[in-house]
Amino acid sequence: MSVNTEQYHSILKVLAPQQVQLIAVSKTKPNEDLQALYDLGQRDFGENYVQELVDKAASLPTDIRWHFIGHLQSNKVKYIAPFVYMIHGVDSEKLLQEINKQALKQNRIIDCLLQVHIATEETKFGFDGPSLHELLVSGRIANYSNIRIRGLMGMASFSEDQTLLSQEFSTLKSYFDKAQQAFPIGQFDTLSMGMSSDYALAISKGSNMVRIGSLLFGARNYNK
Ligand SMILES: *Cc1c(COP(=O)(O)O)cnc(C)c1O
Repeated sequence: MSVNTEQYHSILKVLAPQQVQLIAVSKTKPNEDLQALYDLGQRDFGENYVQELVDKAASLPTDIRWHFIGHLQSNKVKYIAPFVYMIHGVDSEKLLQEINKQALKQNRIIDCLLQVHIATEETKFGFDGPSLHELLVSGRIANYSNIRIRGLMGMASFSEDQTLLSQEFSTLKSYFDKAQQAFPIGQFDTLSMGMSSDYALAISKGSNMVRIGSLLFGARNYNK
C-alpha cells in the first residue's frame, strides 16, 4: 500500500486558498490506501468502475462521498444509484433519463455533471459544444426531477502541449460560464477539470474541482 502523505498536504495547500475541491481518484487501489487517506481527513473519492465502487462503498466508512468519474453504462446506473454522491461523466440524454429513473426509485436527488468533449482524441466521451447548447436551451433538463445538474466535467487531451491544454480548459470554462445562465442561481457551481499532470493549469483556467489519482496513490497497475 502507498499513500503520499506529503503530496496530499502540499496539494491541499495549493487548493485551499482558491477553494478548489479535491477528488481523490482511487480506482484500482486497495481499501487500505483509501482508508489511509480517509484517516488524514479526505472524504471525496472518485472511482471509474461500477463493481469496484460498489465493493469499496460496502466496506469503507459510510460518510465517504463517492464520485463516479468514468464512463457509465445505462444498465449499471441502478447499482450505484442508492449511494453515489455525484456522477461526473453524464454524456448522453439516454443516461440522464436512466439516472433520473433510478434516483426516483431510490427517492433521491443525484448530483450530476455533464461531460463535455474538449480533447482532440476521438475516444473521449462527452457532449460537443452544439449538442450541449441544444440540451440546455431546450428546457428538457427540467423534466429530470431527481437530477440536479451541478456543472460540467471535461478531460483535456493526453498531451504535454501546454498551449493545447490551456485552450481546451478555456473552452470548457467558456461553456461553463454560458451554461450557468440556464440554471437557478447557486445550483450550477462545479467545474470539474484537471488531473495529476495538469491540475495547476486547469485551476488557472477556472477549475474548482480537480480529480487526482497517481500523485496521491502512485502509478496504477492494471494487471493485478
Ligand atoms: C483516472 C482518472 C483521473 C485521475 O488521473 P491521474 O492522472 O492519476 O490523476 C481523473 N479523471 C478521470 C476521469 C480518470 O479516469
